[in-house]
Amino acid sequence: MAISIRGLSKRFGDFVAVDDLNLEISAGEFFSMLGPSGSGKTTVLRMIAGFELPSKGQVLLFDEDVTNNAPFDRDVNTVFQDYALFPHLSVLENVEYGLKVRHVSKTERRQQALAALTKVHLADFADRKPSQLSGGQRQRVALARAIVVKPKILLLDEPLGALDLKLREKMQIELKQLQRELGITFIFVTHDQDEALTLSDRIAVFNNGKIEQVGSPQELYESPATEFVARFIGTANVFSKDDSQRYFGVSSKTMIRPEQVEIGGIGLPGTVKESIYLGSSIRLIVELEGLEIIAELSASDDRAKTYRRGSTVNVNLSKTDLVELK
Ligand code: ATP
Repeated sequence: MAISIRGLSKRFGDFVAVDDLNLEISAGEFFSMLGPSGSGKTTVLRMIAGFELPSKGQVLLFDEDVTNNAPFDRDVNTVFQDYALFPHLSVLENVEYGLKVRHVSKTERRQQALAALTKVHLADFADRKPSQLSGGQRQRVALARAIVVKPKILLLDEPLGALDLKLREKMQIELKQLQRELGITFIFVTHDQDEALTLSDRIAVFNNGKIEQVGSPQELYESPATEFVARFIGTANVFSKDDSQRYFGVSSKTMIRPEQVEIGGIGLPGTVKESIYLGSSIRLIVELEGLEIIAELSASDDRAKTYRRGSTVNVNLSKTDLVELK
């Protein structure tokens, strides 16, 4: 295992930010920690990096207990959201810095820094200062600076948070390619579910200092374990225990994804409250015996466009598509 986290807790005064966490991450995984603001993701990352000491529990990197090691005494490197570049140094000097403090010879560090800059498509910008770069380019310098020292694990704390959506999507693909090329373990913190789904081999969903579920993007989307995960990843129609019992004869909370709700054919009659055009799909909000059901239909389905506010439609919720929640 690249990382083993055992019974890890962090208290700030009376407040429990991280609550008895257990987690195993394999070498070479792209692993994301996803959750709302304040759920404890960054605190876990900081304990892996060594910037924060746990109140309880252990952090093991490649089977070695590093819980009390200093940050520089761990085979990890961190990329921060604000890049933390040195403004007075050139791009090349910024990337060389980590090698310099490790006493790598001048010619060798120049060579390695240029190789790292080439990996992030910035070799032509080596002589510029950070202030002469765009946000995306600065982010790439921060990446080059982190990978040049060849860490076994790279920690990334919302590294794309400051970028606009288009650039963010471009950088997501670059990051994924870079991780594949380097073959090292990436631990990525984000509160953006689309970003986590796009990038990750596996995702841990955080809530209130605990992990609700760990799984591949597909597992989390298709088989969420809890209502929190069902609602945090994608859109979900969640039915209370009582409603699940009444409509489906199931004795636990359940959920169904909007694209699995069938409209038309045989079903219960409902009234369309909203019809929202989303380009590739059309989302209907249908009122059905006091429940509000969200359905998503393909925009290429000609019938979808005929359902308007106030239309009566038949809603078919198939029991086989239901997921039982804890
Ligand atoms: P975000 O996405 O906003 O960064 P997060 O999930 O990374 O959120 P953390 O930064 O890990 O959350 O914080 C978890 C909780 O711990 C928050 O409620 C935060 O206020 C609290 N916390 C973090 N650092 C400290 C500190 N040094 N002192 C006191 N409380 C802290």
